[in-house]
Amino acid sequence: MTEPPQSSHEALRERVALACRVLAVTGLVEHILGHVSVRTGPDTFLVRGRGSRERGLAFTVVEDVQQVTLDGAGTAAPDWAAPTELPIHSEVLRSRPEVTAVVHAHPPAVVAASAAELPWLPLVGAYDIPAARLAHDGIPVWPRSALIRRRDLAEAMVAALGERPVVVLRGHGLVAVGTGDPAHAVAEAVTRALAVDSLARTALAVAATGAPLRPIPDEDLAELPDLGSAFNVSTMWRHLVARAEAEGPGAALRP
Ligand SMILES: [Zn+2]
Repeated sequence: MTEPPQSSHEALRERVALACRVLAVTGLVEHILGHVSVRTGPDTFLVRGRGSRERGLAFTVVEDVQQVTLDGAGTAAPDWAAPTELPIHSEVLRSRPEVTAVVHAHPPAVVAASAAELPWLPLVGAYDIPAARLAHDGIPVWPRSALIRRRDLAEAMVAALGERPVVVLRGHGLVAVGTGDPAHAVAEAVTRALAVDSLARTALAVAATGAPLRPIPDEDLAELPDLGSAFNVSTMWRHLVARAEAEGPGAALRP
């Protein structure tokens, strides 16, 4: 079960703007870097870019979210600029037809854990089941720290992502994807990014004690049921939106 479809163009723009505010309030992005996209067709998507009044992710408004093609063309807003790292979104969406949402963030803990080359292991169990499962199934790392401003760099990153839901970008951040209903996919991609951030913070905390990083036993992994997307994504999304509203700037999405 997922939340009811909210796939109208304007509803999706709001969803992307909200996702950006969620990334800011949860600390997955700092300041003005990071973006979210959602697919609107085989060759089109909405993406968070920059208008002339850019104030950072925490203050994202619907105007910041505009539609472009996979080739980066076409926006109705004259003072709007697509993200420099637009190829992250276009190349993931081009190579993975089932993907309907992409999150790119620079979570400080993920950047630190990747710089330290800590392994991405299921260090925790019932504490965070989605994170444990994600780590158990494997979190790929793209070893380069380049600004992904060209298609060839994005293609290399996408090759590292493969068929997985997330990829860590060493010394840079992460990319997380969602599939299916586009509005739900945005929430799914955000929750996956949060799971990677959770793993990174745990790994850093364990490493700081000097203790070895050890995965939990297989028998305990086997006792971690998939609680389903209604809980892991939809309920979590409601919490995140409420938190963004309570802790965020209080500015309207459509000023
Ligand atoms: Zn980046």
